Amino acid sequence: MLWRTITASHPGEDGGLPESDDMTYQSVNPFDGKTLKTFDELTNAQLEMALETAEKCFETWRHTTFAHRAKVVAKAAALMHAHVDEFARPVTLEMGKLIDQARGEVVLSADIIEYYATNAERFLAPQRLEPTSGEAHIESTPFGVLFGVEPWNFPYYQLARFAAPNLMAGNVVMVKHAGCVPQCAIAFEKLWRDAGAPPGAYTNLLISYDQVNRVIDDPRIKGVALTGSVEAGKIVAGRAGQNLKKSTMELGGSDAFIVLEDADLDKTVKWAVWGKMNNTGQCCVAAKRFIVVESLADRFLEKFKAALSALQPGDPMDAATTLGPLSTEGALVKLLDQVGRAVKSGATLVMGGRRVDRPGAFMAPTILTNIKPENPAYREEFFGPVALFFRVKNEDEAVTLANDSEFGLGGCVFTRDVARGKRVASRVDTGMMFVNHPTWTTPDLPFGGIKNSGYGRELSSLGIQEFVNKKLVRVSSIDAPA
Ligand code: NAP
Repeated sequence: MLWRTITASHPGEDGGLPESDDMTYQSVNPFDGKTLKTFDELTNAQLEMALETAEKCFETWRHTTFAHRAKVVAKAAALMHAHVDEFARPVTLEMGKLIDQARGEVVLSADIIEYYATNAERFLAPQRLEPTSGEAHIESTPFGVLFGVEPWNFPYYQLARFAAPNLMAGNVVMVKHAGCVPQCAIAFEKLWRDAGAPPGAYTNLLISYDQVNRVIDDPRIKGVALTGSVEAGKIVAGRAGQNLKKSTMELGGSDAFIVLEDADLDKTVKWAVWGKMNNTGQCCVAAKRFIVVESLADRFLEKFKAALSALQPGDPMDAATTLGPLSTEGALVKLLDQVGRAVKSGATLVMGGRRVDRPGAFMAPTILTNIKPENPAYREEFFGPVALFFRVKNEDEAVTLANDSEFGLGGCVFTRDVARGKRVASRVDTGMMFVNHPTWTTPDLPFGGIKNSGYGRELSSLGIQEFVNKKLVRVSSIDAPA
């Protein structure tokens, strides 16, 4: 076992959250500020052992059959499906996700794992080519040991969408998870051991940023995937690039939620609340910019505000709670500061903009309007329950505004006219567009963005193609040169 629990349970003073110390891997409950557990980082010697084990494992795992790998991967899915509550609990305790949403994430993660157990062989089947003479085909062979750097906001889902396709492809994976969800990271590693994966197939690495660099530089690592912020993406992708290693980047977003004049207002507002508040707004594809055609704008804003005001803060373990805390005290302080700067730069605060008057990292649902292009808020990602509201004249203005962003992850458009919705979707420059639903995810739909939202895709038949060698095999029928 590569990790060690070193302390347990020292509550923050006065019910507030404790100042963070030097420990990177800390499980702190954002609902009450209690430190649940802290974990040591690996020593370089332990890291070296883990890399060695992973490489050894790859040499065997790559030669196993799809059927063999599918048995292990399907077992992992079945274990997750059978133990939803056990997996959900640490999510809620460590990062404050409402317990029902945490259960939903566990089920979704298990579905992703099962999806690849069932479909990987088909996705990676040799592809026959039709050359002008002779025969040729493309086969998909695994790269080797892959390294993933993952965020806390969906502590299992992010891991599942990296690990399951790659293990099925014959790769093995090592993961540096976010510092605030170590118990989830450890539970996910244990899942693979319990499912019968050999040592080194899935390795959780509790490592420092310096060690992240060391891993990326290591010649045994053949590909790098990061999900996280643009800042981290630039650093990790830059390092991978210096080493000429392929990478995929799933970064931030500022998704447009476009409401056209013919939208069904009541349904649209319900989806707006869901799209904004799922995971307390801490989704890369949360609806972040609400762009509403002016004939509906006032009524939309009034109903949206009323619905957000009705959310009830409380213990995220309690199924009756509808507003959970943010993931950490630090995330709350950062978001409050960002809203403060937006207002200072001319935005109007319609509601919220403050912490909820109770212990824990609770942020009041917030709406900002009157955000001009000169305001830094116009271009930033707000990672939490903050909605940026824009009023536009018509569909064309909505599309122009939606595209006026350095991000290009997801987005959605609400209209009763589906053909019109599809036309608008085609005009918005993002990796994913939804009609009459906020951006969301299922195992069989590709996920990823363009511009500063990154490159590459996860999930679906596309996600499994990122770290395989598309190798040409040619049988020639051309006569030897005279
Ligand atoms: P983050 O701060 O970038 O962290 C993501 C991961 O990168 C964590 O494991 C973090 O480790 C690590 N990391 C950060 N800086 C690093 C560095 N200099 N060197 C090495 N590793 C580094 O992002 P976050 O706050 O956890 O997540 C929120 C962001 O992720 C948002 O921008 C969100 O939109 C984006 N996101 C994107 C997707 C997508 O699919 N496109 C999905 C979910 C989230 P530590 O925790 O130890 O700092």
